[in-house]
Amino acid sequence: MTAPLIDPFARAITYLRLSVTDRCDFRCVYCMSEQMTFLPKKELLTLEELDRLASSFIKLGVRKLRITGGEPLVRRDIMTFFQNMGRHITSGALDELTVTTNGSQLERFAGQLFEAGVRRINVSIDTLDTDKFAAITRWGRLEQVMRGLDAAQEAGLKVKLNAVALKDFNEDELFSMLEFCETRGMDITFIEVMPMGDLGNEDRLDQYWPLSDLRARLAERFSLTDLSKRTGGPARYVRINETGQTVGFITPLTHNFCESCNRVRVTCTGEIFTCLGQEGKSDLRAPLRASPEDAVLEEAIRAAIGLKPRGHDFDYSRGVADGQMTRHMSHTGG
Ligand code: SAM
Ligand code: SF4
Repeated sequence: MTAPLIDPFARAITYLRLSVTDRCDFRCVYCMSEQMTFLPKKELLTLEELDRLASSFIKLGVRKLRITGGEPLVRRDIMTFFQNMGRHITSGALDELTVTTNGSQLERFAGQLFEAGVRRINVSIDTLDTDKFAAITRWGRLEQVMRGLDAAQEAGLKVKLNAVALKDFNEDELFSMLEFCETRGMDITFIEVMPMGDLGNEDRLDQYWPLSDLRARLAERFSLTDLSKRTGGPARYVRINETGQTVGFITPLTHNFCESCNRVRVTCTGEIFTCLGQEGKSDLRAPLRASPEDAVLEEAIRAAIGLKPRGHDFDYSRGVADGQMTRHMSHTGG
């Protein structure tokens, strides 16, 4: 028997978020700068290496695999990778294979994702207004994403919307977005903007719309029931009693969720980040390439998990973005 991955604080690591590219066809203002320098191709893990890496984590007890980026669906031949990961769903080694996407390529790929064993996906949409969508994503087109949503639902994928809560940007769309999701049978999760990337602290604080405020606005119109459902991550859920809808809140800045953290993140170059809010990382690419035997890689994975910190240091409470990260969200995939 292979021993499971347990970190120094007795948390079992069962969830891997794997970024397969740092590239993206959008330039969301809170995520990327307009002029991004992307990694040279040779730095990236090949699809075969990504397979070996993900499969090693699965062998060590990971039950849920989320593919992210950058925009995961713009990586060349990525469907081959999904098809190959599908074997772990078929064998029962993996409970869930899923993806977080901006939706731009779903029209092309939704059917193939379903065939590969994906059943649920997260699609990131912050606004339902065409012009605002173009402004926030810089390069995105809402109609294309809407066609992607249609394709996903037609293919049988359950869709959850992720929306970053942005002050003075989508505050006025809270109820229209909820209604849109209700009509289409989709859940929605709001995310507090996190201090990532290279914009100054001030810009991030300007965008910060605390979800405590968003929730209070919901409660003015609806009665809410807290749900005990936890996913081992920063999301909390409520049910809107009037509509039966589930609404999630990802509040890394206002709640401490670290005690139940079950996840690690691996970038497209094979760096493992054991905490989204800390700079600490280890390299898995060198051990991966050092030997065709998985023993070296597995040892490196265990060593990295052995360094997982207790929690993060994000803090806006003093009016400055403390614990700010210098890396972009697209680097670790959110
Ligand atoms: N491109 C895909 C997408 O947009 O869904 C996957 C990668 S993206 C980095 C993952 C998630 O991170 C998206 O839902 C995005 O809105 C969110 N995100 C990016 N930058 C963020 C920030 N500074 N604060 C909070 N969420 C952020
Ligand atoms: Fe691309 Fe996603 Fe970042 Fe937007 S949030 S720039 S879609 S990686």
